[in-house]
Amino acid sequence: MDYNRLADLIFPHITDTVEDLFARYPRRDLPKGACVTRFAPSPTGFMHIGGLYAAMISRRIAKQSEGVFYMRIEDTDKKRELEGGVTEIISALKDFGIVFDEGPTDEVNEAGAYGPYKQSHRKDLYQTVAKDMMRRGLAYPCFCTADDLDAIRKEQEAGKEANVGYWGRYAKCRDLSLEEIEANLAEGKEFVVRLRSPGSEDRRIVCKDMVRGDIEFPENVMDVVLLKSDGIPTYHFAHVVDDTLMGTTHVIRGDEWLSSYPVHEQLFAAAGFPLPGYIHIAPIMKLDGSSKRKLSKRKDPEAAVSYYHQEGYCPDAVLEYLMTIANSSYEEWRIAHPKLPPPTIS
Ligand code: GLU
Repeated sequence: MDYNRLADLIFPHITDTVEDLFARYPRRDLPKGACVTRFAPSPTGFMHIGGLYAAMISRRIAKQSEGVFYMRIEDTDKKRELEGGVTEIISALKDFGIVFDEGPTDEVNEAGAYGPYKQSHRKDLYQTVAKDMMRRGLAYPCFCTADDLDAIRKEQEAGKEANVGYWGRYAKCRDLSLEEIEANLAEGKEFVVRLRSPGSEDRRIVCKDMVRGDIEFPENVMDVVLLKSDGIPTYHFAHVVDDTLMGTTHVIRGDEWLSSYPVHEQLFAAAGFPLPGYIHIAPIMKLDGSSKRKLSKRKDPEAAVSYYHQEGYCPDAVLEYLMTIANSSYEEWRIAHPKLPPPTIS
């Protein structure tokens, strides 16, 4: 297969190379040890207290190391987007003294040299990286329909296959010839771009979480989707491209993403990008009767940051509370320094 021809066929409009991108987004000139962190919400108009918690920790880590804290808007799912959602997030965080060095400043404007800071404006960047991977045989177009995927799943379930999904011998579009691909394109068939996973079922990998320590996983074998049929990336691929080009040193995110780590590690390697540091943080829990559970957006009004505002809680008190969850020695520090402002503000 002539992968260069394939890449030009799928991405005729992409003329930049990955080297061009790195020239446009050079390494940040920061003191040694400076951390670059980010807060990456979807503009759904709902600010969860867990989001404030993650933003507080991320900002603190950047600021105490003379690094950079920026905001990126993850708006690849247009269905979940709310008008005015970005401004709402900025103002909700500002109430808690959480401001950004770079990122959107309102619905249309932004500050910083590593933008655009809204994923919907970064389509060409994702496609440039996907094209590069396709040239190296690590990505391919997949024309399977929802029915095709359903049939594969049924076959796997009937055969008691442990790994259910689009992978290895089940990945029908992995080995289409250039002629077959050209014919599909000529027919106007829709396609997604998938990773050609180099993973193996009998290998394991280790996530070196900087707080939790080493966590072992089976290697990823799935040919995960990189670009959807409209050319918009999945979370997985956007994470890899954005956190690389924006120079994130530490990815601080909810632990619901931990199970996707094997995909992410593999994508960084396939793209040829260095892996950032990872910190997966636990969700904020609530005591419900005698058992603990995650705060629920649906059931618990206190899951929304706006609740504290409405009920008249002083923002510093909320930050104090979140700091005691984030850092088990915080209470001792606070007792020793009763008059200092919450360290998150500095
Ligand atoms: N948009 C993702 C979320 O809201 C961001 C996760 C991350 O920080 O990478 O969960």
